[in-house]
Amino acid sequence: MRENFAGFLLQRPAGTIAGPVHIDDTTLRDGEQTAGVVFANEEKLRIAKLLDEVGVHQIEAGIPTMGGAEKEAVTQIAAMDLNCSILAWNRAVIADIKASLDCGVDAVAISMSASDIHIEHKLRQSREWVLDSVKRAVVFAKDHNVYVSVNAEDASRADMEFLLAFARTAREAGADRVRFCDTLGILDPFSTFMKIKTLIDVVGIDVEMHTHNDFGMATANAIAGIKAGASYVNTTVNGLGERAGNAALEELAMALKYIEGMKLGLRTGKFRELSEYVAAASNRPIPTWKPIVGANLFVYECENRANATMVDPSTYEVFSPESVGLTRRYVYGKYSGAHSLKAKFKEHDIELTDDEAAILTCRVRSKSVALKRSLFDDELIDTYRSEIGSVREELEGGDRSGDDGDVPTVTAMRDAVAAMEAVTATNAVAAQGEVNDES
Ligand SMILES: [Zn+2]
Repeated sequence: MRENFAGFLLQRPAGTIAGPVHIDDTTLRDGEQTAGVVFANEEKLRIAKLLDEVGVHQIEAGIPTMGGAEKEAVTQIAAMDLNCSILAWNRAVIADIKASLDCGVDAVAISMSASDIHIEHKLRQSREWVLDSVKRAVVFAKDHNVYVSVNAEDASRADMEFLLAFARTAREAGADRVRFCDTLGILDPFSTFMKIKTLIDVVGIDVEMHTHNDFGMATANAIAGIKAGASYVNTTVNGLGERAGNAALEELAMALKYIEGMKLGLRTGKFRELSEYVAAASNRPIPTWKPIVGANLFVYECENRANATMVDPSTYEVFSPESVGLTRRYVYGKYSGAHSLKAKFKEHDIELTDDEAAILTCRVRSKSVALKRSLFDDELIDTYRSEIGSVREELEGGDRSGDDGDVPTVTAMRDAVAAMEAVTATNAVAAQGEVNDES
């Protein structure tokens, strides 16, 4: 029996990121494979330019063997003289690789299934045929002096012994890296870590992570792979991609920087602009709650948080809105309090007394509940204009505590405001399990 908790720990150092890590963005390939998404060639060129401006290291530009507009787009992107490497996707077929070479790319991905279920039911071939095809394709590509990634499709379901043989074959044929594809998004960070560590320890080849988000773990799995030693990672803007999508570029970059302390040297201030462009081009709007670039990430309504961030943004922010191209905003509604309302009106040259702010806060909250949303600035001003007369009348009438009527007293309203502020303050301290806590 283990004597203490330490007995359960791995008998080796926890995963650390050795770096450097390179981003290979596949918005233009896996991203466009999202059902129903097609980018116009002009949009592809613009996305490639934006990705290059952000500073990604490689762009997976498309599948030249499809011919037509697709091949044209890859050719045009390769001719743009961008700073990043341009990679084209291929099956392990010589004709595919020839089509990619025609486009003038400097890198090719050679994709081949690694799991038995794919080999037997999709390819209707044998493991030997798979290894032979990989070998022939890699040797052909390397003879033409391009960087070669061998993509192990469905690697997460592959027999580990065969996956090692697959990667060893790729390495011996001259491949520069192996892409580990969690094609169905079925791994968790712990199983990912173990598989990638085994692959790197046994075969000794650069590994790229390609993770899908079917269980919401694409970014976490990509980071687990990086912690196990993977040095490349496939991302898409906004996490676009087949089914539930891929690891999102913006999530991965910011998580590496702010959780793992690893800087990739990207110009993250352009993230929102890039996300907006891809969202428009793919006709897939960015959810307001989207990690890193969602429009609501730096919007405050809750009184406690609004007040805290007005004084010191780091109380509720790990990074600044400007660092991802967003802005900090305050909205007023059900969770607002008198202090932030006073500050807001001051911006419009309206000075409220504490009592006026307390009563107006109650009215703003009621309006917000009736409308089922927070109020815009002009609605706040309208509320002030239409209500301030009656607010002052009420105050002049004094505190009617003890009256039998239904009208809430000033004291009652002050108490209600204070109670709400106390609740939000308690939430901030507890910071666990509550509905409106973003922490
Ligand atoms: Zn994929």
